[in-house]
Amino acid sequence: MSKETHFHVVASAPRFKVRLVTSKEEYEEVLDSFEEVEFANQWMDDCYAAVYPLEVNGEMFGLVGLNKKRIVADKLDGIEIAAFLAHEAVHVKQRIMIHLYEREPSKEFEAYCVQNIFSSLMEQYKETLKRK
Ligand SMILES: [Zn+2]
Repeated sequence: MSKETHFHVVASAPRFKVRLVTSKEEYEEVLDSFEEVEFANQWMDDCYAAVYPLEVNGEMFGLVGLNKKRIVADKLDGIEIAAFLAHEAVHVKQRIMIHLYEREPSKEFEAYCVQNIFSSLMEQYKETLKRK
């Protein structure tokens, strides 16, 4: 199924796979790593951050795009970036709940999911800083 796609598996919810990409090129690399993508959006170049819901073989991936080009151009600081990732973590949680037909998740389960997704995104963001 996937060749070289590194998704983070969210600790408390093994079916939540989260991946942060920071450019259109990286986004397309992830899409290309799957043989068959049933559903994917276009990269949004005018957004700071967005969720790119990705469904492959009935599995939902929480793919989050952080548009580094815009963030650097507009000189966003670490707090603003973290706030965007928190926002997108909630959207990933919402998408996955819909995918799992989890209509009334417990408040604690929701909060842990957001916490773990956010933590994974921040961890991955930290890695992108080491690359440059
Ligand atoms: Zn939003």
